[in-house]
Amino acid sequence: MTRFSALSLFSKAFGGHQSWPEQWPDAAPKPAYDAIIVGGGGHGLGAAYYLAKKYGITNVAVLEKGWIGGGNTGRNTTIIRSNYLYDESAHLYDHAVKLWDGLSQELNYNTMYSKRGVMMLAHNVHDVQSFKRHIHANRLNGVDNEWLTPEEAKAYCPPLNISPDARHPVLGAAAARA
Ligand SMILES: Cc1cc2nc3c(=O)[nH]c(=O)nc-3n(C[C@H](O)[C@H](O)[C@H](O)COP(=O)(O)OP(=O)(O)OC[C@H]3O[C@@H](n4cnc5c(N)ncnc54)[C@H](O)[C@@H]3O)c2cc1C
Repeated sequence: MTRFSALSLFSKAFGGHQSWPEQWPDAAPKPAYDAIIVGGGGHGLGAAYYLAKKYGITNVAVLEKGWIGGGNTGRNTTIIRSNYLYDESAHLYDHAVKLWDGLSQELNYNTMYSKRGVMMLAHNVHDVQSFKRHIHANRLNGVDNEWLTPEEAKAYCPPLNISPDARHPVLGAAAARA
């Protein structure tokens, strides 16, 4: 993959963006690999990257039937968070979120990761109960998550309409602050 520098970005921008090289040109398959990964989504690419980075295994093929990142990875909500539910996965998600912090610098490639908070709004009693259950489970695992009253949610996100007359009234929120 091309290493970008401020100079190369400027020269390409002022040159009318005509000379960008393909980042992932079609590769001719080799007769053998140390590892073959099927699927060039986030998991496949992550596995290939960490095989190389952590274990020095670079003779790896990633087989993608469509285009790289074109599966779920390219069409999700793009929220990167660790405030899920289960004990088994809490530390995995938390570790994964921390990896994103330095990934753009590490890859010298802008992953467009922008760190900010996330707030899930509760609109009915079931939401309130379910979100509080998640919050307790997360906090027991040391994962950032807190319950906000409607007023606290508005203080965190001022445009929020917390009027009881709103079509979907806000009864509170589960928040993870950046
Ligand atoms: C609507 C939606 C919203 C989501 N929102 C979030 C979110 O906000 N935050 C979050 O963390 N997660 C979210 N997710 C989940 C997240 O997107 C997935 O868990 C993640 O992208 C899965 O990555 P993956 O690499 O396993 O799969 P994919 O990204 O789907 O990659 C699989 C790849 O394998 C390829 N493939 C399949 N079969 C073959 C084959 N036989 N040969 C070659 N290639 C093959 C496919 O073409 C595809 O590119 C969301 C998912 C969806 C659907």
